[in-house]
Amino acid sequence: MGLKVYISGKLFPKEDAKISVFDHGLLYGDGVFEGIRVYNQNIFALDEHIDRLYNSARAIDLTIPITKPEMVKAIKDTLEANKQTDAYIRIVVTRGTGKLGLDPNKCSTPEIIIITDMIELYPKALYENGLEIVTVTTIRNHYSSLDPKIKSLNYLNNILAKIESIRSNAGEALMLNKDGYVAECSGDNIFIFKNDTLLTPPESASILIGITRNCVMKLAKDMGITVREELMTRYDLYFADECFLTGTAAEIIPVVKIDGRTIGTGKPGKITLDLLARYRLLTTK
Ligand code: PMP
Repeated sequence: MGLKVYISGKLFPKEDAKISVFDHGLLYGDGVFEGIRVYNQNIFALDEHIDRLYNSARAIDLTIPITKPEMVKAIKDTLEANKQTDAYIRIVVTRGTGKLGLDPNKCSTPEIIIITDMIELYPKALYENGLEIVTVTTIRNHYSSLDPKIKSLNYLNNILAKIESIRSNAGEALMLNKDGYVAECSGDNIFIFKNDTLLTPPESASILIGITRNCVMKLAKDMGITVREELMTRYDLYFADECFLTGTAAEIIPVVKIDGRTIGTGKPGKITLDLLARYRLLTTK
């Protein structure tokens, strides 16, 4: 039996799951999205993801036509229809079908799409050996423009960064903000461990407030580690003892090289691996 996809209240076989070419999500990237993981039937950090989705929508002045509990039910129904116990859930809410031209008022009602599938961002071996990342020339969108806090369908900023890192044969693209401070990677937040302290860029660095990021900060605090949100430069990263990235799809992935500089011992760090083990315990609980 093939995969079923939810579109605005109905489930369709994957091949028939279609939306209009006049949808403003397609025409202008006008919409928002979320990525959520299901581990052994447990939808991880569901409330946080739902809240972020509705906040992203509010930030772009889009009213999602169903309530949060209705959205949760739609997600669960889709998972059940697909008999999935482990999955990656992609929720997309677009402005809806409209006319050519930017005006969102010309769109009928927002379209809600729920895809439940699998995702593998990085090969498994990289969780054991670590990832190599490079700083790219594409600057992260500044919060005074399209705030990266909004998980919008406009991901070109990140895609341009990703293209650069692929050209450099690196596993991920490290993006700086307009002031030259470290922001985040194309699809993950970044952390370093240095002088017994866990550091990550603050909200003001122009980043998505990652749900995995929040979870890792809490895990580290529970381990008695000092955690600080602090602006940092590439120099700070080069002299880190450990470095890792966080994201719903990536979970926690060690970084062992940045711009050709070896980080720490060149192997995934102890704290990184400890946090990864604790994160995995949490997700499978
Ligand atoms: N930054 C960006 C740009 C992302 O796309 C993601 C992935 N959603 C993250 C950070 C990590 O966020 P989360 O932990 O909520 O998945």
